[in-house]
This record gives sequence, C-alpha cells and structure tokens, in this order.
Amino acid sequence: MDQDICMPQATTQATTQDLVSPSDSILRQTLRDAAMGVAWLDATGHIISVNQTLANWLNQNPSQLNGQPLGQFVPRLDEPLWRNLWHQLTYAPFSEPRTALVVEQESRLLDLLIQRLPGEQQDFAVVYLSASHNHREQNTLHNLQAEVLEAVARGKSLAESMGLLCQRVATLAPEVICTVLQVDEQGRVHPLAASSGMPEAFNKAIDSLPIGPSAGSCGTAAYRGEPVETVDIALDPLWDEYRKFALPLGLRACWSSPIKSRAGRVVATFALYYRQPRKSSPFHRQLVTACLHVCSLAIEHHEAEQRIHQLAFFDTLTRLPNRELLQEQAQRELLRAVREKRELAMFFLDLDRFKHVNDSLGHAIGDRLLVEISQRLLSNLRESDTISRLGGDEFVLLLPQCNDSHARVLAEKLLLAIAEPVTIDQYQFNPTASIGIGIFPRDGTDFESLLRNTDAAMYHAKGAGRNTYRFFRPEMNIAANERLVLESAFRQALHNNEIQAHFQPILRFSDQQLAGVEALARWQHPQRGMISPATFIPLAEECGLINRLDQAMLRAICQQLAQWRERGIVIPGVAVNLSAQNFREPDLAERVASVLQEFSIPPGCLTLEITESLMLHGAEHVLDSLQALRTLGVRLAVDDFGTGFSSLSYLAKFPVHELKLDQSFVRSLLEDGQIRALSSAIISIGHRLQLTVVAEGVETAGQLDFLQQEGCDMAQGYYFARPVPAAELEQWLARHQASNSNKQ
Ligand code: C2E
Ligand code: CA
Ligand code: CA
Repeated sequence: MDQDICMPQATTQATTQDLVSPSDSILRQTLRDAAMGVAWLDATGHIISVNQTLANWLNQNPSQLNGQPLGQFVPRLDEPLWRNLWHQLTYAPFSEPRTALVVEQESRLLDLLIQRLPGEQQDFAVVYLSASHNHREQNTLHNLQAEVLEAVARGKSLAESMGLLCQRVATLAPEVICTVLQVDEQGRVHPLAASSGMPEAFNKAIDSLPIGPSAGSCGTAAYRGEPVETVDIALDPLWDEYRKFALPLGLRACWSSPIKSRAGRVVATFALYYRQPRKSSPFHRQLVTACLHVCSLAIEHHEAEQRIHQLAFFDTLTRLPNRELLQEQAQRELLRAVREKRELAMFFLDLDRFKHVNDSLGHAIGDRLLVEISQRLLSNLRESDTISRLGGDEFVLLLPQCNDSHARVLAEKLLLAIAEPVTIDQYQFNPTASIGIGIFPRDGTDFESLLRNTDAAMYHAKGAGRNTYRFFRPEMNIAANERLVLESAFRQALHNNEIQAHFQPILRFSDQQLAGVEALARWQHPQRGMISPATFIPLAEECGLINRLDQAMLRAICQQLAQWRERGIVIPGVAVNLSAQNFREPDLAERVASVLQEFSIPPGCLTLEITESLMLHGAEHVLDSLQALRTLGVRLAVDDFGTGFSSLSYLAKFPVHELKLDQSFVRSLLEDGQIRALSSAIISIGHRLQLTVVAEGVETAGQLDFLQQEGCDMAQGYYFARPVPAAELEQWLARHQASNSNKQ
C-alpha cells in the first residue's frame, strides 16, 4: 500500500478478474494522482484518508489531514450540514450542487460526488471533489446571473432578488460577506440585501448615512462613481468615521463597486467584506464583475417598473398621486374611517382664474405655478393626508380624522398659504383658490359621491366670489345639475343663434359726441329670461365654446354695423370683446380680415378688446397675432385695465391703441384717495404712451367730472346709457344728437 494513502478496508464487491487488469499498485497510483480530490470520511464527516491530489490542494500532507473535519475546507460539508447529509446518503453516488473549497481564504469551485459505502465495522463515505475549470466557473457565474435575473423577471422584489444574489455569492465564496446598498436621490445609503454573514447591527448603523469623499468603502465608491478597495479597515482613512461600526463586528476589509443606472447615476453599491485584512482575489473579481451586471439590470428593471407605476398612478407634473391612486387610497381610508368610527374630510380645490394664466402666459408658466401650489399644499398637510391632482388646476385632498372644525381651520390655512405672492420669471402672481369641503360619511358614503359633492361645494365657493371655501350642502347638488343643464342649453343657444349683441355707447369727453359702441353679448333664454354674460362667458370658456361664441358675435356685429352704414346711421366704430383663448388660433387675424371684407367694414372701425392678462404672454404667437391685427388696421384696446397684473412696463411693448380703465376704479373714485391717485397715474401713463384712455362704468356726474379733469379721453357707463339692442341704440342716438344740437 502506498505510504501516503491508508485505504480503509471496504468489503469489496465481486471483482471481475481480467487478464489485462492493472495491478493493485497501479490502481493505487491512479487514485493517488487522480485529477480529482478523494476523501474518505467517517459518519461524523471527519477525514479517514485523502488522496494526494486533495492534500496538494489543501497544501498539507495527507496524514496531517486525518481526523480533521472536511467541513472546515468545504463549507457545504460543515458539521451540521454533514450530519444532515449523512442521514440522507445512500449507497448510490450523490451529487451536491457546485460548491467551494476554501484554502487560506481562497475558494475554488468544485463539483462534489458523495457515496456511502459499507465498512467492516461501520459505514463510511467517499467524497470525490472535481475542480471546476475556468469555463466551468464562467458557467457557474452565468447560472448565478440567470438565477437572479429569473427572480427579477418573475416579479420578485428588488430586495428579494438582491438577497438571492448575495446568498449565491456566499455559497460560491463562503469567505466573503456580500452586501448591496441602495443610494437614494438625496445621496443616502440604505441596506438592500446582504449575505447571512453580515451582522444586522452593521446594516442598522449605516442606514441613511450620506455618501461622500470619505464615507467608508461603499459611501466613497458611490460618491466617486468608481470601485474602492480597502485592504484594512483599521488603517484606511476613508473609514475614519465608520471604523467604529465595522471592526467590533469583525469586518476587516471591504471592496465596494458602484452600480449605475442607465442615466449614469449611482443607484447602489455592491461590496464584498472580509474578516481579515486582505485584497480581493482573481475569482472574487470575476464574481463581482458578474454580479455588477446583474445588479444594474435588476435595478434598471426595478426603476422602469417604478416609472411605469409612477406614470400610471402619479401626475407627471407635480408628482402627486393621480385620480386612480386617489381613488384607491380613498377606498382604503373610507373603510378605515368606518372601522374606527371617525370622520374624514375631502377638499376639492380649484385655482381661481388659472385659465387666464395658461391662455395668456402659456403652459410653461402655468405648469410652474401649479408645481408651486402643489408644494404649498404639501407643506401644509400631514403625513397621513393624501393630496392628488385630478388634472388642470384641480386638486383633491383626503384628510383622515378631520371633522368640520378641523376642516375649517385647515381651509383657512391653505387659502392663506396659496395667496402668498409668487414670482415666476418676471411675472408676479397673487394666486387664490376656491375650496369645496365634504365630510365622510355625512356628505357622501362612497368616493364618487363624496367627490361629486365636494366639487359642487367648490363651485359654490367660486360663485361666492372665489378665494374662499364652502362646506357641501345637499341643495348644492341641484345647483351642480343646473350647471350641466345650463351648459347644454348654451350649446343649443349658440347653435340656434340665440345669443345677440347689445350695444353701449362710448362718448368722447371733448365734444360729448359718440365715439363708438361696445358690443356685449346677451343670451335671451326662452324660460329663464336674460342670462348675464358674467355667467355664460366663464361657462363658454370652461367648455371650450368661447372662440365659437366670439366669432359668431364678431360676424353678427359687423353685419349690424354694415347695415347701419347702409342706412346712413353714423356709428363711428364698434368694440368687440375677445377672450384670450382666441389667440390660440394662429389664423385669428385672417379670420377677422375675412369678416371685415365680407361686410365691407373699414378695419379702423373695429376695436378688439383684449384682457390685460393676455398682454403678459410668454408666447410669441400672441405678439404675432396682435401685430398682424394691427397691420390689418383694426384697433386694439386693453380691457379691464388695472385689475389683473401689477406691471405696467409691458404696455409699451405691445401694439395697442387704447386702454380701458376698469370699472372698479371708476366705482371707488370719489371715496378712495388711493384709487384716485392710481387712476390719474394710469391716465397719464396711457397718454405718455399715446394711448386713448376710456373709462368704463361711469354712473355719476361726480365720476365724470373727475375723469374729465384728469384728461381721460372717453367714457361709457349707465350715466349715458345701458347696453341696449340695436334698435334701441338707434333711438338713443337720435335723442342724443337732438339734445346735443339743442345745446349748441
Ligand atoms: P366688460 O367688457 O368689462 O363689459 C362691461 C360690462 O360692464 C358690461 O357687463 C356692461 O353691461 C357693464 N356696464 C357698463 N356700464 C356700466 C355701469 O355704469 N355700471 C355698471 N355696474 N356696469 C356697467 P356685461 O354686459 O354683463 O358683460 C360682462 C362681461 O362679459 C364683459 O365685461 C366682458 O368681459 C364679457 N363679455 C360680454 N360680451 C362678450 C363677448 O361677446 N365676448 C367675450 N369674450 N366676452 C364678453
Ligand atoms: Ca369690454
Ligand atoms: Ca371692462
């Protein structure tokens, strides 16, 4: 028998004697130097004998190994595992999954084949260990990748699939502890997964620590965007702040690599820790390369999923939950409120006059205003509240454990927060909102009805003058219904040409003569009688019918003017109101030109009244349209001047002819010194810019006197005449001319 191998005595089974069979010594020689390690173990997993190959792999003499547990070199076979395995072993060969043989902290991959054999006194086992060649290692790494990616594809969470990865790495290289840390957008790390050797205390200690230029191996790797290898945690200055967490737990070296998203941001780190100061081995490097690849794929997949989730459930502009998510959350919260017998409030919040911002300044500015508002709302709500954007300028808030008095306090707080002035680019806004409030279960027993009712309450807040809130009351539903009814009636009216123009004279101060008339839309409803434009113009704007209305009006008015001209009735000019939405249509000037042409109206007879907010546009096309209209020869007037935005500076930039001092100024002229000063300033600025200044809403002689003294050019108002149908205007004109000639 060969010196180095002391073969246990097996009860050999029947051997086939063959003439050319090799001698026993050849057989032993073969076994001794076989290309595989062979170990004979007793029932407790201790070595009875090994062949030379295995002894070589372990850098020891075969005899030195006798009596040692093989498990100390092959972690798969350590004591508890072996005990388990031994009971399962049969006399047939048993193959273990690929495993590692660890010698002096280095692993090499092995295939194991184990067989139980009957001995003379007791059974023993033979373990055949065959080394994996390089391509086999590759294969193993591919298997690892495939296994983890399969977990990802099967919808396992990121933490689960990364956990699987760490566990597999630990099987292949039991001498390392493997961790994956996630790096959030604020640059803080969060343990995502680790192999079982990682002490939980370490994960806890480093959670939420910031990355930085010397933040241990992982924090630094994330910060630099490149791998960081710390050979000895005790000595590396990168670990100065973190050593205290690692050393007491037996972590001595660490090699960390950043994982980047497709966009290049470091989203995680993958690290191997060692229990001794040391460098990584070539096999570890191979392992890490394979893992980084899987990690970045898994994280990318996860991010894509989150994006899809984000798109499906969140508003892209404000990142607030959208209607779907609101509904889901509401259903949960409503159930909870029922269970806990508590109230819950829903707020329906709608910005006031937001449409004007969008129409006149463009969507980019409007969007930024919305984002600002959403942030103001967020900063005034609790963690447990849900705030969602339904679309446009509508926000819905879900407030668990909120009764009437809480809701009232919160509504007031929110209105104040929203009303803080905000500057976006050069524009200053004083945003306000209207809020409808519903309390569950009183004002609706399910999400849909609660939403409908708070919406109705919001409309009432608007109706009450905006910048306020209203609690839902059952009567409001009737009003909401009415609005729908009104909307459909309006469509019908537009279709049937039931909307007509009335005319209000505009007089020159200098000679008290008619300078022109303003055409104002009137809706004569067959049942309800006269409906005010203050009601149906906003309705038309909201349901997208305003352009049709304005263009129908323009046509009817030009037709009327042509008829007057034909009959020799002298109406010097007519002013027509145009909503800002008309300027969304690029061919506005052409349309106007074609109407003028159709009725042979000289363009100079037409004044288009636009609102001040339109002037504050961000969009080129508004300026282009205004320019084209001016080139066409029509006059342009800024309506309601002084109400919208506080900046006068833009007036010089725009090609307008006229400004109309808002009624609210004229109304308070005699009582309010400040308003008087402001009005004088507006008139003189207008004149400096060579604009005609028209005062609206003049009702008294006192107002008229003041305006005349200040040099205002023209006036209109009940003092002279109310807006009247065309025929009545003719009568008024006859009377006016008669009285004028009497005076002369
Ligand atoms: P606006 O352009 O400022 O029109 C002046 C409003 O003041 C008119 O109200 C007019 O009837 C009223 N008014 C005139 N003189 C006096 C006065 O001395 N005292 C008082 N208290 N009010 C006076 P109306 O006709 O109800 O129109 C309201 C608004 O509806 C208009 O305000 C205008 O912005 C809009 N509108 C009217 N017709 C049209 C239209 O055809 N198209 C568009 N886009 N808007 C229109
Ligand atoms: Ca007007
Ligand atoms: Ca006006």
